Amino acid sequence: PTPLGPTPKLVIDLERMQQLPQEKAGPLSRYVATIQSQRGDYNGRVLSIRQEDLRSLAVIYDKSPGDLTEELINWGVLDPEARRAVDSF
Ligand code: C2E
Ligand code: C2E
Ligand code: C2E
Repeated sequence: PTPLGPTPKLVIDLERMQQLPQEKAGPLSRYVATIQSQRGDYNGRVLSIRQEDLRSLAVIYDKSPGDLTEELINWGVLDPEARRAVDSF
C-alpha cells in the first residue's frame, strides 16, 4: 500500500476565498470570520479549521462533508490533500 503520512489538516486559503464570488463563498467567509474572531487570529494568509467545523459547513451548504470538500478543492480554497482528512470521517 502507498505510505501515508498523518491525517492532513484542513487549511483554508484566505486569499483565494476572498477572490470567490459572494454567492459561493458567503457562508464560508462568515464562518471563517467567526473562528478568526474567537481565536483573535486575523493576520494569517491561511486558517486551519477543525474537522468538526467542516461537518458544520457541510450542513450549511446542504452537502455531504465529502462533496463540500470536493467543491472547496475546485474553488482552490482547500488543498487536494484535504481529501484524506475527510476520508477518515
Ligand atoms: P476551547 O475550545 O475551549 O479552546 C480553548 C483553547 O484551547 C483555544 O483558545 C486554543 O488555545 C486551545 N485549543 C483548543 N483546541 C485546539 C486545537 O485543536 N488546536 C490548537 N492549536 N489549539 C486548540 P482559542 O484559540 O483562543 O479559542 C477560544 C475558543 O474559541 C475555543 O475554546 C472555542 O470555543 C472557540 N474556537 C476557536 N477556534 C475554533 C474553531 O476552529 N472551531 C470552533 N468550533 N471553535 C473555535
Ligand atoms: P502548520 O500547522 O503546518 O502551519 C504552517 C504555517 O501556516 C504556520 O506557520 C502559519 O504561518 C500558517 N497557519 C496555519 N494555520 C494557521 C491558522 O489557523 N492561522 C494562521 N494565522 N496561520 C496559520 P507557523 O505559525 O510558523 O507554525 C509552524 C508550525 O508550528 C505549524 O505548522 C504547527 O505544526 C506548529 N504550530 C504553530 N502554532 C501552533 C499551535 O497553536 N498549536 C499547535 N498544535 N501547533 C502549532
Ligand atoms: P492542531 O493544533 O495541530 O491539532 C490537531 C488535532 O489535535 C485537532 O484536530 C484535535 O483533534 C486535537 N487537539 C489539539 N489541541 C486540542 C485541544 O486543546 N483540545 C482537544 N479536544 N483536541 C485538541 P482538529 O480539531 O480537527 O483541529 C485541526 C486544526 O485546527 C488544529 O491543528 C489547529 O491548527 C486548528 N484549531 C482547531 N481548534 C482550534 C482552536 O480552538 N484554536 C486555535 N488556535 N486553533 C484551532
